[in-house]
Amino acid sequence: MAEPFEAMVAEEVDGKVVARLATLTFADLPDHDVLVEIACSTLNYKDGLCVSGAGRIARRLPMVCGIDLAGTVVDSRSPDWKPGDRVVVNGWGLSETEWGGYSRYQCLKSQWLMRLPDGFTPEQAMAIGTAGYTAALAVDALERHGIDKGRDVLVTGAAGGVGSVAIALLAKAGYRVVASTGRPGEADYLRALGAAEVIDRATLAGKGGPLQKERWGAAVDSVGGQTLATVLAQATTNGAVAACGLAGGNDLPGSVFPFILRGVALLGIDSVYAAMPRRVAAWNRLDRDLDRGLLARMTTVAGLTDVPRLAHEIVAGQVRGRVVIDVAR
Ligand code: NDP
Repeated sequence: MAEPFEAMVAEEVDGKVVARLATLTFADLPDHDVLVEIACSTLNYKDGLCVSGAGRIARRLPMVCGIDLAGTVVDSRSPDWKPGDRVVVNGWGLSETEWGGYSRYQCLKSQWLMRLPDGFTPEQAMAIGTAGYTAALAVDALERHGIDKGRDVLVTGAAGGVGSVAIALLAKAGYRVVASTGRPGEADYLRALGAAEVIDRATLAGKGGPLQKERWGAAVDSVGGQTLATVLAQATTNGAVAACGLAGGNDLPGSVFPFILRGVALLGIDSVYAAMPRRVAAWNRLDRDLDRGLLARMTTVAGLTDVPRLAHEIVAGQVRGRVVIDVAR
């Protein structure tokens, strides 16, 4: 264990919330029961909002940013965890109300920790991160509801983190996946992940009728807004749509007709406070079904000092796939 160490901390400066590197010691950390040495964290859309200041994510200041982390327990007052245990933490209010993963060390509540599956290195776990684990929660939710294997499954925000992992998982499970993207230059990348077809996201962005031609047996949507309303209007009878995100807007300008005339189900996905059994199931699916070569293909690695630049890029929709943050860099 070595202190002092660096962390990306959001603070109020001249009335504005600014995230920057700060030096911490163990005495600065919260008094929770498990101390973890963090190997890596990751960059999610919510991290982008927090670090860039584009969204008010941190609800108390100062706040160590980073909504997830992977690492090793170095000290524990909990009977459930001992030094040397490999752990992953997603959500639980990290970077909102609790100090998060953009740090070399963090003190955490024992009940937030999940054992890292043996099949993953910490870097691979953060290549998945909250975005990938959310994709797995969404696919699990759709399968619990029931997906018609014969119908297309749509993934919106396809070249982003949630979208990339969702495509890989759905294709591996045998579905015909259609990827919706605003970046036609990423078509080869999306096909390599398993998309059978790539469509222009503009085709979902315009206001249409409340019930349109039935196209999607199921969908994973990370865009929200008019896109989600259109996806619902194009869902097949008894189809299901997993709503994960708001990259395109937090409104839902549609009608109830898909629900009451076609029996379409809208499934909400909340990764932050998902119950532990759901988390374990999602990570088991990722361990079983996510091709490690594809995971490497969708991943880049950056350091803590790169986070402010990357934060602006992900909010602008310019980041492809997943970014691991090596907190020692
Ligand atoms: P990314 O930025 O990696 O991906 C979002 C993608 O959405 C972009 O790559 C882009 O895909 C598309 N997009 C961006 N802006 C727009 C726009 N204005 N209109 C239409 N499409 C757009 O983010 P993540 O994958 O990490 O997260 C996706 C969403 O899911 C976010 O809103 C995030 O907050 C949410 N989320 C929710 C979670 C939950 O618990 N419910 C957990 C994790 C994430 P393309 O270029 O291919 O069109």
